[in-house]
Amino acid sequence: MLAPDEIAKRLHEVRNRIAQAATRSGRGVDAIRLVLASKTQPPDAVCAAYDAGARDFGENYIQEASAKRLELADLRDATWHLIGHLQSNKTRLAVKTFDIIQTLDSARVAEAIARVQPSPPMRVLIEINLGGEASKSGVAPSGVESLIDAARDKVEIAGLMTIPPPAANAAASRRYFAELRRLRDRLAASSGLALSELSMGMTEDFEVAIEEGATMVRVGRAVFGERPK
Ligand SMILES: *Cc1c(COP(=O)(O)O)cnc(C)c1O
Repeated sequence: MLAPDEIAKRLHEVRNRIAQAATRSGRGVDAIRLVLASKTQPPDAVCAAYDAGARDFGENYIQEASAKRLELADLRDATWHLIGHLQSNKTRLAVKTFDIIQTLDSARVAEAIARVQPSPPMRVLIEINLGGEASKSGVAPSGVESLIDAARDKVEIAGLMTIPPPAANAAASRRYFAELRRLRDRLAASSGLALSELSMGMTEDFEVAIEEGATMVRVGRAVFGERPK
């Protein structure tokens, strides 16, 4: 892992870039939450970021996250986000481990979550597969409305999340981010839910995502460096 002061320095730089992107697009910096994608990073790297002021961490693998969270139990005001795929047979541990699940993509998983945590309902985002890529999880835009209908009484649907198809550069991702925002606007109108959260943008393109309305950006390598294998 990188040295703690290097992680602190990189975190500071990312925060500055977030603030600049917010200002450019006439948004308040407080409207954007930085979620650090800490998968495969050791607990010490998470601690270094926490000591430098980070509070939101995103993990992909439930087992790994559970172990990390136990080890880091003294970081009491940290918020843990599940940003990796969730299968219905893993929901019990996921609900125990995470404060928010960003990757809901089926009614079946929503039901499984509600069985473990009926109330208060678990906070979730719906993961949208914008590019229709078979390799990615997430629900197709055409299927979101019925998922919202099936899940809205089981979980608290706070918004949408996406990982767009690989792009040659950040500018090429812009249309996907704009598409997610438009989809959200449409769904908010039809469902009556606020759906205020838009989780989009990673190391390569978080500034463009902020310009298109992201309320959460998920950044790993820009802060932690390349992931250990
Ligand atoms: C790893 C990961 C990220 C962060 O990716 P970086 O390129 O390291 O910033 C964001 N979102 C998800 C879902 C991830 O798995």
